[in-house]
Amino acid sequence: MNTLEAIRALPKVELHVHTLGSIQPSTLLSIIKEDGKDTPYKTVEDIVKRFQYTDFTHFIEVYMEIVGYISDESHFEHITFDMLEKCSECNTRYVEASFSPRDHIQHNLDFAKMIDSINKGIDRARESFGIETNIRIDLVRSSTQDETMEVLDHIAKNPYNIVSVDIGGNETRFPPAPFAEAFERAREMGLHLVAHAGEAAGPQSIWDAIEILKVERIGHGVSAREDPRLIALLKENRIGIEMNPISNVRTGVVKSIQDHPIREFYDKGLLVTVNSDDPSLFHTDLNNEYLQIHEHLGFSVPELFQLSMNGIETAFIAEGMKKELRTSFSSEYDQIMKQIDS
Ligand SMILES: [Zn+2]
Repeated sequence: MNTLEAIRALPKVELHVHTLGSIQPSTLLSIIKEDGKDTPYKTVEDIVKRFQYTDFTHFIEVYMEIVGYISDESHFEHITFDMLEKCSECNTRYVEASFSPRDHIQHNLDFAKMIDSINKGIDRARESFGIETNIRIDLVRSSTQDETMEVLDHIAKNPYNIVSVDIGGNETRFPPAPFAEAFERAREMGLHLVAHAGEAAGPQSIWDAIEILKVERIGHGVSAREDPRLIALLKENRIGIEMNPISNVRTGVVKSIQDHPIREFYDKGLLVTVNSDDPSLFHTDLNNEYLQIHEHLGFSVPELFQLSMNGIETAFIAEGMKKELRTSFSSEYDQIMKQIDS
């Protein structure tokens, strides 16, 4: 087994992946055709071409266009199953799938039906690939307080396997502070807390997510590199940082993969993980993320395995499941290392 094969074979955890951002272009095309909507997309290639971005704002614009095509709750079963099939091709064993219900509620889709449909996809994927999945609800930064509280009401009525809340979307226009009350309520409901922060905005956004929203993990966290005091705080409090290198390259958050701070953060002892964010919209998957940081940022196989183990440590799952995952990951890793050496 060569090094690249070993990296693909490593067991993995995916903590930051958006369900809709995993939609396969062929699935999107079939949904568009089924609805008979008038669109410029006639082929899969037309859709793939649309998945190119000039900056982060442009990416959000394309994302919201896709939201507009989802016309029935049942679409989510297919989208979720496809996402998890792709995850399992990367030997990903545990997934926290982000879902943004508000985007679809405004198009008259029903919360409980959508979660039900996602869970059908999750159940089928568990049977087919043995992959475990929990759901993380993105409260969507552009939502009003009433809209956010309504989503929390839905979660309270349909808790299922929802393990956390998050805020994603336009970080520059919508800072974390107005979500303080909603996050406090989510915490009281027993949910874990995470926020996209320091992706398109500076370090203050990360400070606010930690100090005002009291998050346990940060999504992206790229701009923490501008602030040594923040780096020290993240390290001291063992706050997980879900990094998404290729996403950051595609949306122009970093100049190039070589410019990505994951190497620096790892070397400083921060609790970083690697994730794929919106894999189909960014033409990536978790194997590609591992391979790119191996090739361009010098992550060795043992270091990449440590990133997988960091994923287990910061996952929103019970200690018993963490222990089981650690045991099976370690024995697979030992096998892989023996095969590389021979
Ligand atoms: Zn994200």
